[in-house]
Amino acid sequence: MVDTALQACHDNDLKTVQTMEISVGEATGLMPHYLEDYYPQCVKDTILEDSTLKVNYIPVTAKCDDCGAEYTPSRENEYRCPECDSIHSRMIHGREFVLDRLVGE
Ligand SMILES: [Zn+2]
Repeated sequence: MVDTALQACHDNDLKTVQTMEISVGEATGLMPHYLEDYYPQCVKDTILEDSTLKVNYIPVTAKCDDCGAEYTPSRENEYRCPECDSIHSRMIHGREFVLDRLVGE
């Protein structure tokens, strides 16, 4: 992720970066506070050293293959669709780990 950000800085001709915003999905197992705590270590001695990490945490969302409903799967109902009780669904959000935006100049 840091390599991606550094490449983006280079591509955008950024000399300093104030904020780096990323999106992290719940299903990645990465906790935002953990990322924020370790960010300073990861970016030490790079152009990102004085920047702040902002994490947009994305909860898991599933889409039902049978009725098209979008819902938050829960263990209590065995991850079934709340609309039609189907067990066929796809995860449409929650696996994200992407660089959204670099704020700098
Ligand atoms: Zn459904």
